[in-house]
Amino acid sequence: MSTDRLLTVEEARSAVFAAIEGATPSEVAWLSEARGRVAAEPVVSPIALPPWDNSAMDGYAVRAADVAGATEDDPKRLEVIGEVRAGQAPVDEVRRGTALRIATGAPLPPRADSVVPVEGTTPLGADGAITGPRGRDATGPLPASILVHTPSPVGGSIRRAGSDLAAGTTVITPGSVLTPALIGLAAGVGVDQLQVHRRPIVGILTTGDEIRQPGRDLGPAGIPDANGPALVAMVEAAGGDPRVLGIASDRFDDVRSRLCAGLFEPADAIIVSGGVSVGPYDVVRAAFEEFGKIGLWRVGVQPGKPFAFGTARAPGDDGSDGRPATLLFGLPGNPVSTFVTFELFVRPTLRRLAGHRDDDLYRPTDRAVLADDVRKSAGRRAFVRVSVDRDSTGSPKRDERGRVRASLAGGAGGQGSHVLSALATADALAVIPESDDALPAGAEVELWWLDRA
Ligand code: AMP
Ligand code: MG
Repeated sequence: MSTDRLLTVEEARSAVFAAIEGATPSEVAWLSEARGRVAAEPVVSPIALPPWDNSAMDGYAVRAADVAGATEDDPKRLEVIGEVRAGQAPVDEVRRGTALRIATGAPLPPRADSVVPVEGTTPLGADGAITGPRGRDATGPLPASILVHTPSPVGGSIRRAGSDLAAGTTVITPGSVLTPALIGLAAGVGVDQLQVHRRPIVGILTTGDEIRQPGRDLGPAGIPDANGPALVAMVEAAGGDPRVLGIASDRFDDVRSRLCAGLFEPADAIIVSGGVSVGPYDVVRAAFEEFGKIGLWRVGVQPGKPFAFGTARAPGDDGSDGRPATLLFGLPGNPVSTFVTFELFVRPTLRRLAGHRDDDLYRPTDRAVLADDVRKSAGRRAFVRVSVDRDSTGSPKRDERGRVRASLAGGAGGQGSHVLSALATADALAVIPESDDALPAGAEVELWWLDRA
């Protein structure tokens, strides 16, 4: 990859995607652990839903012909010969002039072709006297007979076998994210395990002599590691399985050995934060080159330069087992730059590895109007951290053209690539095109929504 000119975001992303050999292999997940995973194989329903005709109401299974013409003043009288409860196979058939009390979801008995809801009936005792009010609770003692006050057509209050779906229907397609509703659907057709893509294993290494584990003494010149924990969270949110490789000093041997540990996991991807610029202590690129091919890219984004990408294998791994090489990402150490380059290049990569479809790799976008003036470097695409005006229900407010209103998170001073406090208040990134070096308040821009959890 040539490094003498700035690459566009799309060029850099296509080059990263070209190194991805495909989604991770599939593994079995029980339904209880499947939420948020990505289906690797179709699920075909082994049964029809409902499996048999059943009642949609608590009422009486009847023959429609017996209640034809029933009115309030001229009800039809039917003998109640038994009942069918939910979970019980019907034994009796409904002969002319009779009814079986039936519960919602119970199988329709033979020769019944309609269900009269209990609200349309009055119970009678053996002596023919009324024993309860119209529409009496459908679970009390069984009446000897009933008066039916309304006609009920053939098929009335019946859920037909297969009316939800036929046996053999594909209910989950590969690449689908397993939502609670899809898990309910799988369970509803009697499937208890799903084939899902393995979560991509992602090694996370932060570098810098000044970087300390959060909570530890900082000494005179230390700063806490913001990127390591943030990257763990971002990898998890993107569907990955993070593996912490620790904090390396700016020494080649330290970076090299931790990188090596990540390759031996074996990780599908390794993210290294910091140490990728051309400073004298930036040893990450040299360490990457010990294990594979790496390029230092100048991508026209702000923030986010520099950015290194390549592929590598653990020593002794010649790829003969068919496993793809580990993808290596070297992200700039400034926390905001780390965050934005993760969004641009790593998150879509992890989603592709995790099996998401091509139309499901990126953030949802929107149109926004800037509430503030924005200044940036010409020739680079800026991803500006913004917060969006919301109403009291939390929904973004929209103008008459449907656009949301985006203010610079943390104000004008909040856009420095080191300003963590502003990043944390942003709920979206506003995209300022390469062509502009400034945009005034009121300009319309594209917006990428970020996770709110
Ligand atoms: P580098 O990319 O290593 O040149 O780092 C650029 C800036 O980001 C420096 O000010 C570093 O101190 C800071 N930085 C690097 N890594 C981290 C980290 N893990 N947490 C917080 N700040 C960092
Ligand atoms: Mg550094």
